[in-house]
Amino acid sequence: MLKPNARYAQLKDAYLFNTIYRKTEEYREKNPGKKILRMGVGDVSLPLCKAVIAALHEAVDDQACAATFHGYMPEVGAPSLRKAIAGYYGKMGASVAPDEIFVSSGACDDLGDILELFDGENTVMVIEPAYPEYVDTNILAGREVIHLNAGEENSFLPAPNEAAKADILYICSPNNPTGAAFNRVQLQAWVDFARENGAVILFDAAYEVFIEEEEIPHSIYELQGADQCAIEICSLSKTAGFTGTRLGYTVVPRNLVRGGMHLRDMWSRNRETRTNGVSYILQKGAEAVFTPEGQRQIRENLSVYKENASYFMEALDAAGIWYCGGRNSPYIWMKCPDGMSGWEFFDELLEKIQVVGIPGDGFGDCGRGYFRFSTFGSPQETKEAANRLCALLKKR
Ligand code: PLP
Repeated sequence: MLKPNARYAQLKDAYLFNTIYRKTEEYREKNPGKKILRMGVGDVSLPLCKAVIAALHEAVDDQACAATFHGYMPEVGAPSLRKAIAGYYGKMGASVAPDEIFVSSGACDDLGDILELFDGENTVMVIEPAYPEYVDTNILAGREVIHLNAGEENSFLPAPNEAAKADILYICSPNNPTGAAFNRVQLQAWVDFARENGAVILFDAAYEVFIEEEEIPHSIYELQGADQCAIEICSLSKTAGFTGTRLGYTVVPRNLVRGGMHLRDMWSRNRETRTNGVSYILQKGAEAVFTPEGQRQIRENLSVYKENASYFMEALDAAGIWYCGGRNSPYIWMKCPDGMSGWEFFDELLEKIQVVGIPGDGFGDCGRGYFRFSTFGSPQETKEAANRLCALLKKR
């Protein structure tokens, strides 16, 4: 008799996002004349840059001609793209070889698949508030999850401690949802902790390109010893607007060995089994991101999101409200005013100023009482939303 994976019943349903959608739609139907500004969405709004579009067109044409046509690509990624990504790491001051880089269809895919490297008996530590996939994928695999609560007292950047001891440690910096980012000293402490305990860090660097401050590392491999204890997962989704185009990459260093097994070789073997590679066309488009022209153009787009962040930051600074993020991240994580819950604040924003954000509850219990704004919207709408927020907060 077939037994389904009963752990699906343990997953939290999409209650948060469904409720946001339902409440917003109900309000819209009752108030057709009001302009609702959606500032919660974690999806980009700007199109792919010109260098990427040109490379994609060229790659499509390659597929039209037998002499330039490409069939299956290597499961681990095209050599030219792996080399381009290795060059990008070199510029950050991190030494990563092309054969330690594995091209994927996005970070989400790899965050799930990478767990196949680890036994189901391993324990997992997730710093919360967190991107929900870390917990969900491990629940489905039947692993014990240790929730390490971050909070205002440590600026949402907790240091390792006894309670954080686990075999697999998730670190996301800059963080979704809080926007907080570990500096070198703080991240080195986690690397040292992982090495002392034989743990492996799964470092989610999906937002590295938003980092502005010198003391914040873009890659965990900028730190000593990380090549012996960390896997880094990255994506072009937010870096270069690839959310709908899909491309990511994962680094598994050659020096990462556990139980006498080389995780890089295991991952290579996993890729042979689990994928037939990413499309030639998309890999060509991705390669253009790493050219000087591509880098210049994606940074033009990023500066638009940065300016969006500044509108929200100015509004919160003027109101004297605690927040983090915004500076090294496209997310702003604010404390709800006057002890309100995330949902109370949500309702007030929707009803009084028609601005939609995300209550922090959706990212773990310790997100209660906080609220996330995203800066990926259009500049006009973001500015308007921040102005409305500023006026509302001033009246309180
Ligand atoms: N990691 C974090 C922290 C994210 O916020 C996201 C997407 O929002 C992802 C990974 C997934 O990125 P991708 O679009 O590459 O699947």
